[in-house]
Amino acid sequence: MAAADPAEVWRGRVQGHLDAAGRPPLGAMAGWEVFPFERDGLTPKPLGERVVPEPSRERSADACGTCRALAREDLVLHTGTRLAVIRPGGTSLMFVANVVAREHERLDDLDEAADEELGRLVARTFRALRALPGVGNVQVSKWENGGGHLSVNVLARPLGVLELRGSNLPVWADMLPDIPQDEYDARADVVRSALA
Ligand SMILES: [Zn+2]
Repeated sequence: MAAADPAEVWRGRVQGHLDAAGRPPLGAMAGWEVFPFERDGLTPKPLGERVVPEPSRERSADACGTCRALAREDLVLHTGTRLAVIRPGGTSLMFVANVVAREHERLDDLDEAADEELGRLVARTFRALRALPGVGNVQVSKWENGGGHLSVNVLARPLGVLELRGSNLPVWADMLPDIPQDEYDARADVVRSALA
């Protein structure tokens, strides 16, 4: 007999936790001081059926925003051996940098030397952003931006803006207006020097 699919077991176990529409109750995070939304009126989305096999997360290099950014000198902050550090074209935060693969490849594809470079570059980028004036803390996350291209996001929170602390920082960032481009460019020069 084939062993039960562990993800199917997980999904079955969760079912009893959902209401008739498939919605879970709000979790503890909704009570966090740093949660960006008021609890009243919040409605979780229903959990749908599993989709296996999953739709492909691959995107070709010519449709990849990270590949496009790597071709723009103003967005590249550092070029390493297998990896590079870039920034998005704009941000609402104090600064955002992405530690990315120089080629269109995923974290799955790296070898040990690239793993070591990744650790070193994430730490150095963290410290470069942490040292910028007006930064309260720096958060690090990996989502790959849905494009099949390794991207570790390094996000600098404005000092003293305590609502933005922690893992909801990108949610806040999405709701707030971009900082002026000249301010962002000037900080990019500082980060570029720190990474050189
Ligand atoms: Zn790419």
